[in-house]
Amino acid sequence: MPEGGPVGRFAPSPTGRLHLGSLLAAVASYCHVRKQGGAWRVRMEDLDPPREIPGAASDILRTLEGFGLQWDGEVAFQSQRSDLYHEAMEALKRNGSAYPCACSRKDWAGLPHYPGTCRSGLPEAKPGRMTRYKLSGASRTWEDVMRGQTTFSTADMGDFPILRADGFWAYQLAVVVDDRDQGITEVIRGADLLDSTPMQLDLWGALDEAQEEVPAPVYGHVPLLETMGGQKLSKQTLARAVEMEQAAELLDLVWGLLGQDRCEAWSATVAEDDPAALMDLAASLWNAEAVPKASIQLQGWGQDTRP
Ligand code: GLU
Repeated sequence: MPEGGPVGRFAPSPTGRLHLGSLLAAVASYCHVRKQGGAWRVRMEDLDPPREIPGAASDILRTLEGFGLQWDGEVAFQSQRSDLYHEAMEALKRNGSAYPCACSRKDWAGLPHYPGTCRSGLPEAKPGRMTRYKLSGASRTWEDVMRGQTTFSTADMGDFPILRADGFWAYQLAVVVDDRDQGITEVIRGADLLDSTPMQLDLWGALDEAQEEVPAPVYGHVPLLETMGGQKLSKQTLARAVEMEQAAELLDLVWGLLGQDRCEAWSATVAEDDPAALMDLAASLWNAEAVPKASIQLQGWGQDTRP
């Protein structure tokens, strides 16, 4: 891969097997960066042991391979990257962008987000339970690959934990530290993370000041798949896992859901039942502009409770 070229990533949490929604995000991020001749990395976001399922990480990797989604380099595991998160947290603290917080959820029950109680110091006699990031309050705007210009004000959001009360690193910190460290230039992921992007851009800016300047990646958010009841298709709604034996058929389904052209060459390759050839073709045909913006309701998918 040429040095300095685009780098994309897929960052699953090993909390279950891959379902159709995660496959859709993986295919989009793969195609988007491969179309530009870039590298595609896989990062296992295994920072939340209570929610993880033994064997899920290797199952996800096997499934990606079975679907022709071949990654570059070694798979990164967040559980092995604590030193980086620690360094970043210390730099943020020194810079005044992170602070200890003594509050528990019930201290701000009924409020839309954490109100910043401990921003200017811990209340007397109360020990810190966690470390929070101090949002700048600025508006964050980015040119979303799929949605165009998107703006959120971080003034409407609560300072979020970076080191949780249970001692685990929080998602927002780990994602930003890793995207910076791994030279990620393209973050294509599900729209469930749309409102995380302004927080991550804000944190990115703070780390630019506290550590070193790193150009922020391009972000793009692909539509969520919903069950007919309007629920997000996720492990919590018992979304059915994708089966490798149906790889070509499911890639064809995902291709259609992503608004992509099922041209003659595409249909012929689906018929050949060769997922790797299909993904090569997908990368060359990819058209980000055709990806729908609204969530997609799936009939007859997701309610299945098979493990
Ligand atoms: N690990 C997150 C998830 O599985 C995705 C993180 C990301 O793409 O930024 O939802």
